[in-house]
Parts: sequence; C-alpha cells; structure tokens
Amino acid sequence: MEAAWKAFVVRLDPTLETSTAGKFRHVRACDFGKVQQQVLLHISKLEQESGNRMCVMSDILDRLHPAARQQVEAMMPAVSADVESAAEAYAAIQKWLMANRFWIFTDLPKSWCIVHQQECLLFPEQPGPCCKRQKMQEPSGIHINFAGNTCKGWSSVGSNRRFGDKSELVHAVWLSERARRGERGGEHLFISECTVRYPCEEKLSKPLEGAHEVLHITAGPDMLGWPVRRPRNLSCGLSKANMAWLGPTGAALQADFEAFFRRSLASTGDIFLVSPEAEVLAEQQRLGEQRGYKVTDIIYGVNSSLHTPGQILRHADYEKKRLLQNRSSSTFFADLDQNCNAGTSSAGVLIPTQLSHGSLFAWSAKRQMTMQEVWLSHGFNLLPQSTGNSMECRISSCLGRLTPKQQQELVGNGWHMGVLACWSMYVFAHSIKINRTMSLMPERSLLKKGGSQFYSGCSGSFDDDKESSGAERPTVQAQSE
Ligand SMILES: [Zn+2]
Repeated sequence: MEAAWKAFVVRLDPTLETSTAGKFRHVRACDFGKVQQQVLLHISKLEQESGNRMCVMSDILDRLHPAARQQVEAMMPAVSADVESAAEAYAAIQKWLMANRFWIFTDLPKSWCIVHQQECLLFPEQPGPCCKRQKMQEPSGIHINFAGNTCKGWSSVGSNRRFGDKSELVHAVWLSERARRGERGGEHLFISECTVRYPCEEKLSKPLEGAHEVLHITAGPDMLGWPVRRPRNLSCGLSKANMAWLGPTGAALQADFEAFFRRSLASTGDIFLVSPEAEVLAEQQRLGEQRGYKVTDIIYGVNSSLHTPGQILRHADYEKKRLLQNRSSSTFFADLDQNCNAGTSSAGVLIPTQLSHGSLFAWSAKRQMTMQEVWLSHGFNLLPQSTGNSMECRISSCLGRLTPKQQQELVGNGWHMGVLACWSMYVFAHSIKINRTMSLMPERSLLKKGGSQFYSGCSGSFDDDKESSGAERPTVQAQSE
C-alpha cells in the first residue's frame, strides 16, 4: 500500500520527492484464523526490523469490557436456533452494543497480542497538539481501519444464513467500535470489502447514520483490466467528526470511480502462466506426494498421479464447455474442485473467482496453475524474475513456507491488491481532514482559495489499523477554487 500511495502522490505532483510523499505504517492487525496469524506474525517481524512496532490481536471480542462480553454471551442464540431466531438475537446484540458503545470500549482498551504475548493497547496513538476545546486530543496523521468482513453468511458458496450467521457477532463488535472510535475523533475512516451479496446499506449506512458518511461501489479486477474474476462490494466510512467527503455520492459515485479506473481487457489469464519449469515440477511433486505418487517429470494434462477421479471427471465436463465456448482458442481456466455450471463456477478465459479451496487448471499450459501464479493474478508478485518486475511481494518467503492448501485458503478469503489499491486511492483523493473544534463550519473554508490542504492534519503518521498504516503529512497542496 505504501508503494501504491507514493506512486499516486508523485503522479499528482511529479516534482515531489517520494520521501515526502507520505508514510504508510501498519500498526495493528486482528485475525482469528491460524494461517492468517502466521502471515501477520511475519509482517510484524518485518515491521520490527524496520524499527516499527506492530501488534497482532486474535479475537475481536477480547476488546469488550468484561461485563459487556458477559452480556453478549447471554444474548447469543442457541446453537440449534433456526435462521430467523438467530437473526433476531444478532440484531438485538448489535442494537445493545451500539447503544452501550460509550462504556463497552474503555478509554485505553487492551487486547491479547500474540506478538508480544501480553495485553497490548489497541489504540496507543501519540497525542497531537493539545487544544483546550477538544474533548480528546486530535491524533496526528490519518488513522484508517481496513476490514475484510467475514463473507460466510453472504457468499453464494457459504452458509447463506445472512443476518442469522454467527459472523454477525464479530461484525456487530467491529461496527460499534467504528462508531465509537469515529465519534471520539480517534479514527478518521475505514475501508471494507465483502462479497457482492453483502448489503452495505443495511449493514453499514443505516447503523452508522449520524457518525459516518458511508459510500460503496461494486468492482472487480476484470473491470480494471486484470483478466481475473472477483466481483466485490467495496465500501468506506468517513467519520463526520473529522473528515469530509469531496467526491460524488449515490449513483454518480460508481460512474466516477469507473471514469478513473475502468480499463478494457487486452489479455487473458494466460498472462499469469510464468512459473519456471522447476517450480511447476516442485508443485506437481508436492501434489503427487499427497496422492502417494512420485513425480519425476512435469506431467501435462489431467493424470491420476496428480488429480482425484472427481477432478478428472470435472475436467471432461469443462472440456465440453470449452469446445462450446470457443473451439479455436486453447485458453481456458476452470477450478476442478467446482462442478461445471454450478455454484460460483465461472470457467473461461479469465481466472475464475477463487474460493478458499480449489485446483485451478490452465488448458493452454495443460497443467494446474502454481500457487505463485495464482498469487500473481491477485496482485502479489511472487515471481519477480519471471515478470521482470523487481518489486517482490514482502511476504513471499512466508507464503512459500505454507502448504498450497493453506495458500489457497488465504487467496480465497483475501483481497485483490489492485482493486483494493484503486479503491483506497480513490477514497484518499476525495477525502479531507477537517477540524470541527476550530471552526463551526469547516466545510466552508474548503470553498476559499487556499482554504484546504491535501492533508490538513499535523505532521505524523498515516496509520493503518489493518483491521489496519501511518505517515509524514504529504506536502501536496490541493486548492479549492
Ligand atoms: Zn503487542
């Protein structure tokens, strides 16, 4: 994100030195998943080597006041509850958490940190300049919360229990914390992503009405020119206490975002088939080992040494579909773990939407895609030599130590980096930090020449709470006429 941020700011003003373009710092992360925690621990270690402290929390419920946690547990639906009863219980929990947000999140909340093996402060912001009229010291820089909300209840391949899914509990805690952090002035904005079935209006806009300006669009990599399918609902929430939105709203928002970022596709998924033969063989040897076979040379096509009988049958079904779609081209991709024409199966010339399990077969290469190629298609450069792009993904060594199954779980649940970067850049470029304690109507000053700065905060950090990162204030000036 830091590289994308610098590229964006320097493009805005080519005379700007990249060193002053702003610094993005990951300060805290929170994830309950064990594989996800392994990666977050690695990122924390990298941050530490750069002189930064990054905590990794594991359970979002840890941050609640003990009495609140007890209350929430008492309100939980029975395990055997039907969807409607469960949805009612979760709605009551969200209502209770939101109504009691003033005390359930203490002033200096702590949560168990798996990096430092202790209770660490969740929001240890450095206080900014003190102002007598401020209820709370204005934090320096911009504090952002990034959240990939659990999609299990909304995904077409998940439980489809929607408001009755157990992930509603963690969503309610996350949501009420955003409202509290926003109104206390401790957090400026959040950016979140979920499946296209996630109802942003009901899940974000309505409950946060008053505290945040919530905006959302639908986008996927194929919209941005990447030959990859992964349609997603992208949203952001600007705290009305200290931020103002300068871009379009409503239906005009989607069109405006697309005016900046929409590109027509000029390539197929074949562009990602760049793994060296040694890597292809190594991955096939791992697959063969799992099935009790020793692979010595690269195997082309489906083969019982590498594939299950079900995968071989599904390959035949997909082959029929390929011949119907385009007989003249050998470019075709299908997930051999998904039945043809079922679920979210989206076989074709683009990389299909990735699930948390899968076996992606590439017809033109006559082999399964390597996990490095799958990562590359999602914007993570694990193949710098093959791509000629020397900017290697910072966590490539950590991902390489995970099994292909664990890596697939991360890709299936993860973000497409290009899409997230575009949406984040769009949001940053259309937002401005305002100080309501210094003026009754700070928005008015934005209309005056010289009345606004790209970032009007104090020098400091641009914090990303990855659930969320930090920076010297960019010296870019944005003038409003
Ligand atoms: Zn810690």
